[in-house]
Amino acid sequence: MSLLVKKALLNGLECDILIEGKVISRMASNLNISADEVIDAEGMAVLPPFVNAHTHAAMSLLRGYADDMELMDWLQNKIWPLEAKLTEEDVYWGTKLACLEMIKSGTTTFVDMYWHFSGSAKAIDEMGMKALVSGVLIDMFDPKQACKQRELNEALYDSMSQYSDRIHFCLGPHAIYTVSEESLNWVRNFADKHKLPITIHLSETETEIQQCMDMHGCRPVEYLEKIRFLGPDVIAAHCIHLSDEEIAILKQHEVLIVHNPISNMKLCSGVMPYQRLKEAGVSVALGTDGCSSNNNLNMVEEMKVMALLHKNVSGNPKIAPANEVYHSATKPLIERFFPKSNGIAEGNNADMIIVNLHHHQLIPNHNLISNLVYSGTGDIVDTVICDGNILMKHRKIEGEEEIKRGALEAVKRLV
Ligand SMILES: [Zn+2]
Repeated sequence: MSLLVKKALLNGLECDILIEGKVISRMASNLNISADEVIDAEGMAVLPPFVNAHTHAAMSLLRGYADDMELMDWLQNKIWPLEAKLTEEDVYWGTKLACLEMIKSGTTTFVDMYWHFSGSAKAIDEMGMKALVSGVLIDMFDPKQACKQRELNEALYDSMSQYSDRIHFCLGPHAIYTVSEESLNWVRNFADKHKLPITIHLSETETEIQQCMDMHGCRPVEYLEKIRFLGPDVIAAHCIHLSDEEIAILKQHEVLIVHNPISNMKLCSGVMPYQRLKEAGVSVALGTDGCSSNNNLNMVEEMKVMALLHKNVSGNPKIAPANEVYHSATKPLIERFFPKSNGIAEGNNADMIIVNLHHHQLIPNHNLISNLVYSGTGDIVDTVICDGNILMKHRKIEGEEEIKRGALEAVKRLV
């Protein structure tokens, strides 16, 4: 299967891109080659896709179900009771709905943490996206639960051959307040043994810091360092309440931080210290978190909120400029975990979005990155390609109506 993208603007210059299989095989200003399929991208820009570095995809089913509440009240009284009723089929449809939404706004790759792993993995695979997929590992400090969770994760890891190579297994210990030290140690050893990434929620609320001080006599990042959990394979979501010492530890172990500004603002968790992290040289990726705390999965919107939030809290309009925010939304996770997708270049995997420069939000086009961050909404994205497959062409996604129907039926059963 070959695909030719004709006359797209890449870094301001017109370019034809030939994709054979999943790889970009040739790029030149005018390729006189035939291909199985041709996309006319005249008047459009081709860019790397967005990467959602932290979400719980199937929570799309809970969109708007419980808003305007405090985190623990929200989790304990609304989210967890409903999640207890979820089946693998519900998760399958919820994840498909989430994928639909992410593709429509230009995301091809994400990090997922949710229950019923097989439902998520199957849905993401069918939608043609790439992901680090984790089950949720929670033992609530109960050794029996811990044992069950380890066996489950081992079984899930062994089941990976049924999915395409776009689906990567990831370990997902939920947080230090829901997972015992024994299980965190098991996660670290399992990750080392099989070279797997780990994703965890970290330092999201003041309560978490206080509990950690009470239980372990130190702050969360210090605790994770003490038990030798941290490393460049750790993707830590939120990281809001950090001392300077903790920031230095995160840098020393090259932990990848995920910023979720909308979720943090909605739940009043606090503000991630972006500038301090940046000055310390810590890598910051961007994510939406789940749909019940956001309430969408639109990385274009997330970029704008990130930029505005840090300007507003610092009183400095130069903080979090468009190019830095755009970098967080596209690069750090890809460089580290999907190096073959790092950039639109010959020999790389063909992952790209084609953005419609005729969209009224992108006119005039003094600065495309500025327009993407501050002006665009998701529908500026015209076409999405991942591993050489067209996931959306001229805003049409195959099976869209069936996905909406399936998700609505799942919600009807649940609520
Ligand atoms: Zn989360």
